[in-house]
Amino acid sequence: MRELVKELKSGELLPSEHLEEVIEKIEEREPRLNAFISLDVEGARERAKELDKLVRSGRASGLLFGLVLAVKDNIAVEGMRLTCASRMLENYVSPFSATAVERLVREGAIVIGKTNMDEFACGSSGETSYFGPTRNPWDEERVPGGSSSGSAVAVAAGMSDLSLGSDTGGSIRNPASFTGVFGFKPTYNLVSRYGLVDLAMSLDVIGPFSPDADGIALSMEVMAGPDGRDAGVQRSLSFLETFDAFDPEGVRVGWGEGFLEGVEEPVRRHFERFLNVLDSIGAELVELRVPPMEKVWPLYYLIMYPEFASAMQRYNGLTYGLRGEGSNLYEVIADARGKGFGREVKRRIILGTYLSMERYEKSFHERGVKLRRGLRAEVKKLFEEVDFLTSPTVPFLPFRLGERLDDPVKMYAADALTVLANLTGIPAINVPFGREGRLPVGMQLMGRWFEDDRLVAMARFLEGRG
Ligand code: GLN
Repeated sequence: MRELVKELKSGELLPSEHLEEVIEKIEEREPRLNAFISLDVEGARERAKELDKLVRSGRASGLLFGLVLAVKDNIAVEGMRLTCASRMLENYVSPFSATAVERLVREGAIVIGKTNMDEFACGSSGETSYFGPTRNPWDEERVPGGSSSGSAVAVAAGMSDLSLGSDTGGSIRNPASFTGVFGFKPTYNLVSRYGLVDLAMSLDVIGPFSPDADGIALSMEVMAGPDGRDAGVQRSLSFLETFDAFDPEGVRVGWGEGFLEGVEEPVRRHFERFLNVLDSIGAELVELRVPPMEKVWPLYYLIMYPEFASAMQRYNGLTYGLRGEGSNLYEVIADARGKGFGREVKRRIILGTYLSMERYEKSFHERGVKLRRGLRAEVKKLFEEVDFLTSPTVPFLPFRLGERLDDPVKMYAADALTVLANLTGIPAINVPFGREGRLPVGMQLMGRWFEDDRLVAMARFLEGRG
Protein backbone atom coordinates (compact mmCIF):
# COMPACT_ATOMS: atom_id res chain seq x y z
CA MET A 1 0.00 0.00 0.00
CA ARG A 2 2.87 2.38 0.78
CA GLU A 3 4.12 1.87 -2.81
CA LEU A 4 0.80 3.12 -4.14
CA VAL A 5 0.95 6.18 -1.88
CA LYS A 6 4.43 6.92 -3.19
CA GLU A 7 3.17 6.85 -6.78
CA LEU A 8 0.25 9.09 -5.87
CA LYS A 9 2.49 11.61 -4.17
CA SER A 10 5.03 11.73 -6.97
CA GLY A 11 2.45 12.37 -9.66
CA GLU A 12 3.29 9.13 -11.45
CA LEU A 13 -0.38 8.40 -10.92
CA LEU A 14 -2.50 11.44 -10.08
CA PRO A 15 -5.05 11.04 -7.26
CA SER A 16 -7.91 11.79 -9.66
CA GLU A 17 -6.63 9.28 -12.21
CA HIS A 18 -6.49 6.67 -9.50
CA LEU A 19 -9.94 7.65 -8.24
CA GLU A 20 -11.40 7.26 -11.75
CA GLU A 21 -10.03 3.71 -11.93
CA VAL A 22 -11.76 2.93 -8.65
CA ILE A 23 -15.02 4.54 -9.82
CA GLU A 24 -14.91 2.40 -12.96
CA LYS A 25 -14.69 -0.72 -10.78
CA ILE A 26 -17.65 0.52 -8.75
CA GLU A 27 -19.72 1.10 -11.89
CA GLU A 28 -18.87 -2.35 -13.12
CA ARG A 29 -19.44 -4.37 -9.95
CA GLU A 30 -21.61 -2.44 -7.49
CA PRO A 31 -24.96 -3.06 -9.23
CA ARG A 32 -24.61 -6.78 -8.45
CA LEU A 33 -22.60 -6.71 -5.23
CA ASN A 34 -24.55 -4.03 -3.29
CA ALA A 35 -21.56 -3.16 -1.09
CA PHE A 36 -22.51 0.50 -0.58
CA ILE A 37 -25.45 2.23 1.05
CA SER A 38 -24.28 5.75 0.11
CA LEU A 39 -21.75 6.85 -2.49
CA ASP A 40 -20.27 10.32 -2.74
CA VAL A 41 -18.62 10.18 -6.15
CA GLU A 42 -18.77 13.92 -6.77
CA GLY A 43 -17.42 14.82 -3.34
CA ALA A 44 -14.56 12.36 -3.86
CA ARG A 45 -13.78 13.83 -7.28
CA GLU A 46 -13.55 17.33 -5.84
CA ARG A 47 -11.23 16.21 -3.10
CA ALA A 48 -9.04 14.29 -5.57
CA LYS A 49 -8.69 17.44 -7.66
CA GLU A 50 -7.47 19.35 -4.63
CA LEU A 51 -4.91 16.62 -4.03
CA ASP A 52 -3.82 16.80 -7.70
CA LYS A 53 -3.08 20.49 -7.16
CA LEU A 54 -0.90 19.66 -4.18
CA VAL A 55 1.06 17.18 -6.29
CA ARG A 56 1.57 19.75 -9.04
CA SER A 57 2.85 22.34 -6.60
CA GLY A 58 5.13 19.81 -4.88
CA ARG A 59 3.22 19.94 -1.60
CA ALA A 60 1.77 16.43 -1.48
CA SER A 61 1.97 15.07 2.05
CA GLY A 62 0.21 12.58 4.32
CA LEU A 63 0.64 8.88 5.00
CA LEU A 64 -2.51 7.96 3.07
CA PHE A 65 -2.24 10.56 0.35
CA GLY A 66 -4.83 9.85 -2.39
CA LEU A 67 -5.99 6.46 -1.09
CA VAL A 68 -9.69 5.73 -1.53
CA LEU A 69 -11.49 4.81 1.69
CA ALA A 70 -14.88 3.17 2.28
CA VAL A 71 -16.48 3.42 5.72
CA LYS A 72 -18.97 1.05 7.35
CA ASP A 73 -22.33 2.70 7.79
CA ASN A 74 -22.24 2.55 11.60
CA ILE A 75 -19.23 4.92 11.69
CA ALA A 76 -19.86 8.64 11.41
CA VAL A 77 -18.65 10.70 8.43
CA GLU A 78 -19.63 14.35 8.62
CA GLY A 79 -22.38 15.33 6.17
CA MET A 80 -23.07 11.77 5.06
CA ARG A 81 -25.93 9.48 5.96
CA LEU A 82 -25.39 7.15 8.91
CA THR A 83 -28.03 4.43 8.64
CA CYS A 84 -26.56 1.35 10.36
CA ALA A 85 -28.38 -0.40 7.49
CA SER A 86 -31.63 0.14 9.39
CA ARG A 87 -34.91 1.63 8.33
CA MET A 88 -34.85 3.28 11.76
CA LEU A 89 -32.03 5.62 10.63
CA GLU A 90 -32.74 5.66 6.91
CA ASN A 91 -32.51 9.45 6.64
CA TYR A 92 -30.18 10.32 9.48
CA VAL A 93 -27.19 12.49 8.45
CA SER A 94 -24.20 12.64 10.77
CA PRO A 95 -23.15 16.12 11.96
CA PHE A 96 -19.56 15.04 12.74
CA SER A 97 -16.89 12.49 11.81
CA ALA A 98 -15.58 9.63 13.93
CA THR A 99 -12.05 10.21 15.23
CA ALA A 100 -10.74 7.26 13.19
CA VAL A 101 -12.18 8.72 9.98
CA GLU A 102 -10.99 12.21 10.80
CA ARG A 103 -7.42 10.96 11.26
CA LEU A 104 -7.36 9.00 8.00
CA VAL A 105 -8.77 11.95 6.07
CA ARG A 106 -6.24 14.28 7.65
CA GLU A 107 -3.50 12.03 6.22
CA GLY A 108 -4.94 12.35 2.71
CA ALA A 109 -7.55 9.59 2.38
CA ILE A 110 -10.58 10.21 0.16
CA VAL A 111 -13.92 8.90 1.46
CA ILE A 112 -15.86 7.35 -1.42
CA GLY A 113 -18.90 6.10 0.48
CA LYS A 114 -20.60 4.29 3.32
CA THR A 115 -20.80 0.53 3.15
CA ASN A 116 -23.58 -1.97 3.56
CA MET A 117 -23.70 -4.14 6.68
CA ASP A 118 -25.94 -6.30 8.80
CA GLU A 119 -28.52 -4.10 10.53
CA PHE A 120 -26.87 -2.47 13.58
CA ALA A 121 -23.95 -4.89 12.98
CA CYS A 122 -26.07 -7.86 14.06
CA GLY A 123 -25.16 -10.75 11.83
CA SER A 124 -22.43 -12.82 10.25
CA SER A 125 -23.50 -12.84 6.62
CA GLY A 126 -24.37 -9.34 5.38
CA GLU A 127 -27.96 -10.41 4.81
CA THR A 128 -29.91 -8.53 7.50
CA SER A 129 -29.51 -5.06 5.95
CA TYR A 130 -32.65 -3.04 5.28
CA PHE A 131 -30.96 -2.14 1.97
CA GLY A 132 -30.71 -5.76 0.82
CA PRO A 133 -27.90 -8.31 1.06
CA THR A 134 -24.33 -7.81 -0.13
CA ARG A 135 -22.95 -10.54 -2.39
CA ASN A 136 -19.61 -12.31 -2.37
CA PRO A 137 -17.45 -11.05 -5.27
CA TRP A 138 -15.96 -14.54 -5.81
CA ASP A 139 -19.35 -16.25 -6.08
CA GLU A 140 -22.36 -13.97 -6.23
CA GLU A 141 -24.73 -16.69 -5.00
CA ARG A 142 -22.84 -16.78 -1.71
CA VAL A 143 -22.63 -14.43 1.26
CA PRO A 144 -19.56 -12.23 1.84
CA GLY A 145 -19.72 -12.66 5.62
CA GLY A 146 -20.67 -9.95 8.08
CA SER A 147 -21.47 -7.79 9.68
CA SER A 148 -18.94 -5.49 7.90
CA SER A 149 -19.95 -7.07 4.59
CA GLY A 150 -19.72 -4.03 2.32
CA SER A 151 -16.36 -2.88 3.70
CA ALA A 152 -14.80 -6.29 3.00
CA VAL A 153 -16.35 -6.49 -0.47
CA ALA A 154 -15.30 -2.94 -1.38
CA VAL A 155 -11.64 -3.88 -0.79
CA ALA A 156 -11.90 -7.39 -2.28
CA ALA A 157 -13.47 -6.09 -5.51
CA GLY A 158 -11.17 -3.07 -5.91
CA MET A 159 -13.96 -0.58 -5.13
CA SER A 160 -11.73 1.07 -2.50
CA ASP A 161 -8.09 0.80 -1.42
CA LEU A 162 -8.87 0.53 2.28
CA SER A 163 -12.00 0.38 4.37
CA LEU A 164 -13.17 0.56 7.96
CA GLY A 165 -15.36 -1.90 9.80
CA SER A 166 -16.37 -2.63 13.37
CA ASP A 167 -15.81 -5.89 15.22
CA THR A 168 -17.88 -6.90 18.26
CA GLY A 169 -17.70 -10.64 17.83
CA GLY A 170 -15.90 -11.12 14.52
CA SER A 171 -17.52 -8.64 12.16
CA ILE A 172 -14.24 -7.55 10.58
CA ARG A 173 -12.43 -10.90 10.52
CA ASN A 174 -15.37 -12.99 9.32
CA PRO A 175 -16.10 -11.04 6.10
CA ALA A 176 -12.35 -10.58 5.52
CA SER A 177 -12.03 -14.36 5.58
CA PHE A 178 -15.00 -14.92 3.26
CA THR A 179 -13.74 -12.39 0.70
CA GLY A 180 -9.99 -13.05 0.84
CA VAL A 181 -8.60 -9.82 2.35
CA PHE A 182 -6.78 -8.80 5.52
CA GLY A 183 -9.07 -7.62 8.31
CA PHE A 184 -7.81 -6.48 11.68
CA LYS A 185 -9.46 -6.24 15.09
CA PRO A 186 -7.22 -4.09 17.34
CA THR A 187 -6.83 -4.46 21.10
CA TYR A 188 -9.86 -2.99 22.88
CA ASN A 189 -9.04 0.67 23.66
CA LEU A 190 -6.29 1.14 21.09
CA VAL A 191 -8.52 2.94 18.57
CA SER A 192 -11.02 5.59 19.64
CA ARG A 193 -14.66 4.50 19.43
CA TYR A 194 -15.87 8.08 19.18
CA GLY A 195 -18.34 8.20 16.29
CA LEU A 196 -19.00 4.46 16.25
CA VAL A 197 -22.62 3.43 16.90
CA ASP A 198 -22.63 0.88 19.77
CA LEU A 199 -23.61 -2.70 19.38
CA ALA A 200 -22.14 -3.82 22.72
CA MET A 201 -19.79 -1.22 24.05
CA SER A 202 -17.59 -3.49 26.13
CA LEU A 203 -16.74 -5.50 22.99
CA ASP A 204 -16.88 -3.09 20.00
CA VAL A 205 -13.76 -1.89 18.17
CA ILE A 206 -13.10 -0.08 14.89
CA GLY A 207 -10.53 -1.67 12.56
CA PRO A 208 -9.29 -1.69 8.95
CA PHE A 209 -9.55 -3.93 5.86
CA SER A 210 -6.77 -4.01 3.28
CA PRO A 211 -5.67 -6.24 0.41
CA ASP A 212 -2.21 -6.43 2.03
CA ALA A 213 -0.72 -6.43 5.54
CA ASP A 214 1.10 -3.19 4.75
CA GLY A 215 -2.22 -1.34 4.40
CA ILE A 216 -3.28 -2.60 7.83
CA ALA A 217 -0.05 -1.31 9.43
CA LEU A 218 -0.37 1.98 7.60
CA SER A 219 -3.95 2.70 8.62
CA MET A 220 -3.34 1.54 12.19
CA GLU A 221 -0.33 3.85 12.45
CA VAL A 222 -2.73 6.71 11.83
CA MET A 223 -5.82 5.58 13.77
CA ALA A 224 -4.30 4.18 16.97
CA GLY A 225 -3.63 6.39 19.96
CA PRO A 226 -5.16 8.63 22.61
CA ASP A 227 -8.23 10.67 21.84
CA GLY A 228 -9.71 13.27 24.17
CA ARG A 229 -13.15 12.15 23.08
CA ASP A 230 -12.71 8.53 24.18
CA ALA A 231 -10.93 8.53 27.51
CA GLY A 232 -10.41 4.76 27.50
CA VAL A 233 -7.78 5.08 24.78
CA GLN A 234 -4.46 5.87 26.43
CA ARG A 235 -1.81 4.04 24.46
CA SER A 236 -0.22 4.29 21.09
CA LEU A 237 2.04 1.98 19.03
CA SER A 238 4.55 2.33 16.18
CA PHE A 239 3.07 0.05 13.57
CA LEU A 240 5.29 0.91 10.62
CA GLU A 241 8.55 0.79 12.53
CA THR A 242 7.74 -2.67 13.93
CA PHE A 243 6.46 -3.80 10.53
CA ASP A 244 9.77 -3.02 8.84
CA ALA A 245 11.96 -4.48 11.60
CA PHE A 246 10.11 -7.66 12.62
CA ASP A 247 11.69 -11.10 12.28
CA PRO A 248 9.47 -14.20 12.68
CA GLU A 249 12.41 -16.50 13.45
CA GLY A 250 11.83 -18.29 16.75
CA VAL A 251 8.46 -16.68 17.43
CA ARG A 252 6.21 -19.11 19.34
CA VAL A 253 2.76 -19.77 17.91
CA GLY A 254 0.20 -21.76 19.90
CA TRP A 255 -2.78 -23.76 18.69
CA GLY A 256 -4.98 -26.45 20.16
CA GLU A 257 -7.78 -28.91 19.49
CA GLY A 258 -10.16 -26.64 21.41
CA PHE A 259 -9.98 -24.23 18.48
CA LEU A 260 -10.80 -26.98 15.97
CA GLU A 261 -13.96 -28.65 17.27
CA GLY A 262 -16.73 -27.96 14.82
CA VAL A 263 -14.32 -26.80 12.11
CA GLU A 264 -15.44 -28.30 8.83
CA GLU A 265 -13.21 -30.35 6.61
CA PRO A 266 -11.86 -28.11 3.86
CA VAL A 267 -11.05 -25.41 6.42
CA ARG A 268 -9.30 -27.86 8.74
CA ARG A 269 -7.11 -29.06 5.87
CA HIS A 270 -6.07 -25.50 5.03
CA PHE A 271 -5.31 -24.88 8.69
CA GLU A 272 -2.89 -27.81 8.70
CA ARG A 273 -1.15 -26.29 5.69
CA PHE A 274 -1.06 -22.98 7.56
CA LEU A 275 0.77 -24.61 10.46
CA ASN A 276 3.33 -25.98 7.98
CA VAL A 277 3.89 -22.55 6.49
CA LEU A 278 4.34 -21.06 9.97
CA ASP A 279 6.97 -23.70 10.60
CA SER A 280 8.69 -22.93 7.30
CA ILE A 281 9.11 -19.23 8.14
CA GLY A 282 10.90 -20.11 11.37
CA ALA A 283 8.05 -19.99 13.89
CA GLU A 284 8.02 -22.54 16.69
CA LEU A 285 4.68 -24.33 16.92
CA VAL A 286 3.36 -25.18 20.36
CA GLU A 287 0.33 -27.38 20.91
CA LEU A 288 -1.62 -26.10 23.91
CA ARG A 289 -4.68 -26.95 25.92
CA VAL A 290 -6.89 -24.07 24.81
CA PRO A 291 -10.45 -23.35 26.00
CA PRO A 292 -12.97 -25.27 23.84
CA MET A 293 -14.52 -22.62 21.60
CA GLU A 294 -17.69 -24.66 21.08
CA LYS A 295 -18.39 -24.07 24.79
CA VAL A 296 -17.09 -20.50 24.91
CA TRP A 297 -19.01 -18.79 22.15
CA PRO A 298 -22.46 -18.82 23.79
CA LEU A 299 -20.93 -16.60 26.47
CA TYR A 300 -20.59 -13.88 23.87
CA TYR A 301 -24.34 -13.78 23.42
CA LEU A 302 -24.95 -13.66 27.16
CA ILE A 303 -22.88 -10.48 27.36
CA MET A 304 -23.80 -8.90 24.06
CA TYR A 305 -27.62 -9.19 24.24
CA PRO A 306 -28.15 -7.04 27.37
CA GLU A 307 -25.63 -4.41 26.22
CA PHE A 308 -27.29 -4.28 22.82
CA ALA A 309 -30.81 -4.00 24.24
CA SER A 310 -29.63 -1.13 26.40
CA ALA A 311 -27.88 0.69 23.52
CA MET A 312 -31.01 0.40 21.39
CA GLN A 313 -33.19 2.36 23.81
CA ARG A 314 -32.28 5.62 22.11
CA TYR A 315 -33.99 4.56 18.87
CA ASN A 316 -37.52 5.19 19.92
CA GLY A 317 -38.78 7.66 17.37
CA LEU A 318 -38.26 10.47 19.87
CA THR A 319 -34.52 10.75 20.61
CA TYR A 320 -33.45 9.16 17.33
CA GLY A 321 -35.13 7.30 14.55
CA LEU A 322 -38.24 6.87 12.55
CA ARG A 323 -41.24 8.77 13.89
CA GLY A 324 -44.05 6.43 14.93
CA GLU A 325 -47.76 7.12 15.04
CA GLY A 326 -50.31 6.73 17.82
CA SER A 327 -52.41 8.63 20.30
CA ASN A 328 -50.05 8.35 23.25
CA LEU A 329 -46.32 8.19 23.87
CA TYR A 330 -46.16 4.42 24.22
CA GLU A 331 -47.97 3.87 20.97
CA VAL A 332 -45.62 6.28 19.20
CA ILE A 333 -42.59 4.39 20.50
CA ALA A 334 -44.03 0.94 19.84
CA ASP A 335 -45.01 1.93 16.32
CA ALA A 336 -41.59 3.40 15.56
CA ARG A 337 -39.79 0.31 16.84
CA GLY A 338 -42.24 -2.06 15.19
CA LYS A 339 -41.74 -0.51 11.75
CA GLY A 340 -38.14 0.54 12.17
CA PHE A 341 -36.27 -2.65 13.08
CA GLY A 342 -35.71 -5.93 11.28
CA ARG A 343 -36.23 -9.41 12.74
CA GLU A 344 -32.76 -10.09 14.12
CA VAL A 345 -32.56 -6.71 15.86
CA LYS A 346 -35.97 -7.25 17.44
CA ARG A 347 -34.97 -10.72 18.57
CA ARG A 348 -31.91 -9.28 20.31
CA ILE A 349 -33.78 -6.42 21.97
CA ILE A 350 -36.33 -8.85 23.39
CA LEU A 351 -33.76 -11.40 24.58
CA GLY A 352 -31.46 -8.70 25.93
CA THR A 353 -34.28 -7.09 27.89
CA TYR A 354 -35.24 -10.48 29.28
CA LEU A 355 -31.67 -11.21 30.41
CA SER A 356 -31.49 -7.81 32.11
CA MET A 357 -34.59 -8.37 34.23
CA GLU A 358 -33.88 -8.38 37.92
CA ARG A 359 -34.95 -11.98 38.38
CA TYR A 360 -32.53 -13.24 35.70
CA GLU A 361 -29.65 -10.86 36.10
CA LYS A 362 -27.84 -12.96 38.70
CA SER A 363 -28.16 -16.19 36.79
CA PHE A 364 -27.23 -14.84 33.39
CA HIS A 365 -25.54 -11.48 33.00
CA GLU A 366 -23.60 -11.51 36.24
CA ARG A 367 -22.49 -15.06 35.62
CA GLY A 368 -21.46 -14.09 32.12
CA VAL A 369 -19.27 -11.32 33.42
CA LYS A 370 -17.64 -13.68 35.91
CA LEU A 371 -16.97 -16.32 33.24
CA ARG A 372 -15.47 -13.65 31.04
CA ARG A 373 -13.02 -12.71 33.77
CA GLY A 374 -12.00 -16.38 34.07
CA LEU A 375 -11.49 -16.61 30.32
CA ARG A 376 -9.25 -13.58 30.36
CA ALA A 377 -7.05 -15.15 33.03
CA GLU A 378 -6.88 -18.37 31.05
CA VAL A 379 -5.78 -16.54 27.91
CA LYS A 380 -3.20 -14.57 29.85
CA LYS A 381 -1.67 -17.87 30.97
CA LEU A 382 -1.52 -19.12 27.37
CA PHE A 383 0.40 -16.01 26.39
CA GLU A 384 3.05 -16.84 28.98
CA GLU A 385 3.93 -19.80 26.77
CA VAL A 386 3.49 -18.37 23.28
CA ASP A 387 3.67 -15.05 21.44
CA PHE A 388 0.65 -15.68 19.20
CA LEU A 389 -2.33 -18.00 19.03
CA THR A 390 -3.76 -19.31 15.79
CA SER A 391 -6.95 -20.92 14.51
CA PRO A 392 -9.04 -20.78 11.36
CA THR A 393 -11.10 -17.55 11.24
CA VAL A 394 -14.50 -19.10 10.43
CA PRO A 395 -15.24 -22.83 10.90
CA PHE A 396 -16.75 -23.19 7.42
CA LEU A 397 -16.67 -21.75 3.89
CA PRO A 398 -18.87 -18.90 2.59
CA PHE A 399 -22.39 -20.31 2.42
CA ARG A 400 -25.27 -19.67 0.02
CA LEU A 401 -27.51 -16.63 0.46
CA GLY A 402 -30.49 -17.57 2.61
CA GLU A 403 -28.94 -20.81 3.81
CA ARG A 404 -28.56 -19.87 7.47
CA LEU A 405 -30.78 -16.80 7.72
CA ASP A 406 -33.73 -18.53 9.39
CA ASP A 407 -31.64 -20.43 11.88
CA PRO A 408 -29.95 -18.05 14.32
CA VAL A 409 -27.98 -20.79 16.06
CA LYS A 410 -26.44 -21.92 12.77
CA MET A 411 -25.68 -18.31 11.92
CA TYR A 412 -24.11 -17.63 15.32
CA ALA A 413 -21.80 -20.64 14.86
CA ALA A 414 -19.87 -18.52 12.35
CA ASP A 415 -18.49 -16.52 15.31
CA ALA A 416 -17.24 -19.53 17.26
CA LEU A 417 -13.55 -18.78 16.66
CA THR A 418 -13.63 -14.98 16.61
CA VAL A 419 -15.47 -14.03 19.82
CA LEU A 420 -12.56 -15.05 22.06
CA ALA A 421 -10.63 -11.94 21.00
CA ASN A 422 -13.58 -9.66 21.79
CA LEU A 423 -14.39 -11.26 25.12
CA THR A 424 -10.77 -10.91 26.25
CA GLY A 425 -9.91 -7.69 24.37
CA ILE A 426 -6.85 -9.10 22.54
CA PRO A 427 -5.94 -8.13 18.94
CA ALA A 428 -6.66 -10.56 16.09
CA ILE A 429 -6.20 -10.56 12.34
CA ASN A 430 -7.56 -12.51 9.39
CA VAL A 431 -4.85 -13.68 7.00
CA PRO A 432 -6.21 -14.75 3.60
CA PHE A 433 -4.80 -18.23 3.07
CA GLY A 434 -5.58 -20.41 0.08
CA ARG A 435 -8.80 -21.15 -1.74
CA GLU A 436 -11.27 -23.96 -2.04
CA GLY A 437 -12.24 -23.71 -5.68
CA ARG A 438 -12.87 -19.98 -6.09
CA LEU A 439 -13.80 -19.47 -2.47
CA PRO A 440 -11.28 -17.75 -0.18
CA VAL A 441 -10.20 -19.32 3.12
CA GLY A 442 -8.90 -17.30 6.06
CA MET A 443 -6.68 -18.03 9.04
CA GLN A 444 -6.64 -16.12 12.30
CA LEU A 445 -3.68 -14.96 14.36
CA MET A 446 -4.24 -13.51 17.83
CA GLY A 447 -1.71 -11.62 19.92
CA ARG A 448 -1.13 -10.26 23.41
CA TRP A 449 -2.85 -7.09 24.59
CA PHE A 450 -1.27 -4.04 22.92
CA GLU A 451 1.13 -6.11 20.83
CA ASP A 452 -0.92 -5.26 17.77
CA ASP A 453 2.10 -3.94 15.90
CA ARG A 454 3.91 -7.29 16.19
CA LEU A 455 0.78 -9.18 15.18
CA VAL A 456 0.37 -7.20 11.96
CA ALA A 457 4.10 -7.55 11.23
CA MET A 458 3.84 -11.32 11.69
CA ALA A 459 0.87 -11.48 9.31
CA ARG A 460 3.00 -9.96 6.59
CA PHE A 461 5.21 -13.05 6.49
CA LEU A 462 2.19 -15.20 5.72
CA GLU A 463 0.94 -13.00 2.92
CA GLY A 464 0.66 -14.77 -0.43
CA ARG A 465 1.76 -18.06 1.11
CA GLY A 466 -1.59 -19.85 0.78
N1 GLN B 1 -21.85 -12.02 14.22
C1 GLN B 1 -21.74 -11.43 15.51
C2 GLN B 1 -23.08 -10.92 15.94
O1 GLN B 1 -23.99 -11.13 15.23
C3 GLN B 1 -20.73 -10.37 15.49
C4 GLN B 1 -21.23 -9.01 15.18
C5 GLN B 1 -20.16 -7.99 15.16
O2 GLN B 1 -18.99 -8.28 15.37
N2 GLN B 1 -20.58 -6.76 14.97
O3 GLN B 1 -23.25 -10.35 16.97
